[in-house]
Amino acid sequence: MYKEGPPTVSNPVIVAIDGPSGTGKSSTSKAVAAELGLSYLDTGAQYRAITWWMLSNGVDVNDQAAVANAAAKPVIESGSDPLAPTITVDGVDASGPIRTQEVTAAVSAVSAVPEVRTRLVELQREAAEKATAGIVVEGRDIGTTVLPDATVKIFLTASAEARAVRRAGELQAKGPADLAATQAALVERDAADSGRKTSPLAKAEDAIEVDTSELTLEQVVECVVTLVEEKRVAA
Ligand code: C5P
Repeated sequence: MYKEGPPTVSNPVIVAIDGPSGTGKSSTSKAVAAELGLSYLDTGAQYRAITWWMLSNGVDVNDQAAVANAAAKPVIESGSDPLAPTITVDGVDASGPIRTQEVTAAVSAVSAVPEVRTRLVELQREAAEKATAGIVVEGRDIGTTVLPDATVKIFLTASAEARAVRRAGELQAKGPADLAATQAALVERDAADSGRKTSPLAKAEDAIEVDTSELTLEQVVECVVTLVEEKRVAA
């Protein structure tokens, strides 16, 4: 007999991290998952992977019907270790090719197709269910659509200038012209992601907004880890 009832097994913690490009979602999500011993899923990498498959297989990414017809074909698998995340398409490592400019330029069109979203949301929910300790999932619609019951929802923002400087750094772009082009491309992709009909980029009503413009990565990670721990204690 237990005096105060049986020991409770704590529910897996689900952390949803959404926001536009260049706000530090990936670096933050991986570091938070590693620090808290959770799995990690980069849903943007999955949209990029399906886009890469479309481009490699001659599917016109601006033809919605063609993309919809092919949406079920590629086998996409994501490894969930935050220290070494992986992504394969039909068994082939896609981590390099999904970061090319060609894929970046095409991904918003492919991710706006409802059949693509249905397919990937199913994979994302399966990954969250499988993660027994819990998971950090980053994307654009995780808190609103994919995992609306997430334990903690974070919406990262940053000024367009700060985001462009970070992204240009990642691309090793040099000079003001590159910076301006990077900023224009980011703003254009965010407008497409926010404006699409099916689960657009949006802040969930119960998400906590963190503006990362003036914060270091360490500060953002500390902030998110503290929010998760507070929720765990309260639960
Ligand atoms: O995060 P990342 O910049 O790699 O995402 C690439 C693209 O994937 C986004 O611009 C967006 O079009 C799409 N995406 C999405 N929904 C998500 C994650 C990413 O539509 N949950």
